[in-house]
Amino acid sequence: MAEPAFSREPRKLKFHVFCAIPETIKSVFETGVIRKAVDTGVLRVFLHDLHALSPEPHGKIDDYPYGGGPGMILRVDVVAHALEKVFCKDATDIGKLMPVILLSPQGERFTQEMAISFVSFSEIVFICGRYEGVDERVREYIATKEVSIGDFILSGGEIAAAAVIDAVVRLIPGVVGNVESLKEESFTSGLLEYPQYTRPASFRGWKVPDVLLSGNHAEIAEWRRKKAIEVTRMKRPDLISRKDYREEI
Ligand code: SAH
Repeated sequence: MAEPAFSREPRKLKFHVFCAIPETIKSVFETGVIRKAVDTGVLRVFLHDLHALSPEPHGKIDDYPYGGGPGMILRVDVVAHALEKVFCKDATDIGKLMPVILLSPQGERFTQEMAISFVSFSEIVFICGRYEGVDERVREYIATKEVSIGDFILSGGEIAAAAVIDAVVRLIPGVVGNVESLKEESFTSGLLEYPQYTRPASFRGWKVPDVLLSGNHAEIAEWRRKKAIEVTRMKRPDLISRKDYREEI
């Protein structure tokens, strides 16, 4: 894959999702935190229907695999034409201007770190497969990165693109009310978040830890740090081994 020279204009994001069934994820962008970001003008999401953009008769976008085998494959010419119609540029040049992400179970695993790296771009393209997959030439000649949201197979890339977009959008300054809440979240600090409680302080004898009701901020901070390490060690020991918290454990 060609290494692109990305532009790094921050703060106003445009996402383009090229997919077969935009309806699958339309509501994701019409509700909640993402809707708020759209309404305040820091985000624009364009859902591009590959069928509507296809130059083939009846909006056909897939075909049988060369060499035989089950299922249908999303065509490279359909993807190239769709991108070219929207960007008025050769499909292979778009990756020089912005990340062109192919959603695929074979891609690099999506992480919070990757979400943080995406928020610095002003425009990102997502290409979603369907059926048995995508003609390999999309990865070779058009995409700049292949991204997976985990080791399982979805029926299409739409939900994967929506998951990535959701994780990136909430990192745009101002979208999630409290910046502090982002800093302490799981993965951001290299640890999982400490346990959280809210009212009532006691329910059926299930009590909130006394320290959280004490009003002693230093003690609360220390308790939370210890708990974050404990929880991470218990649930995700692989994260601990990646960072050096040993002196605190
Ligand atoms: N036959 C392919 C899987 C195709 S799944 C294989 O074995 O590799 C159909 C489409 O769903 C893919 O093209 C991709 O866009 C999307 N998809 C499926 N699982 C995904 C995952 N874990 N992460 C990101 N996209 C995924």
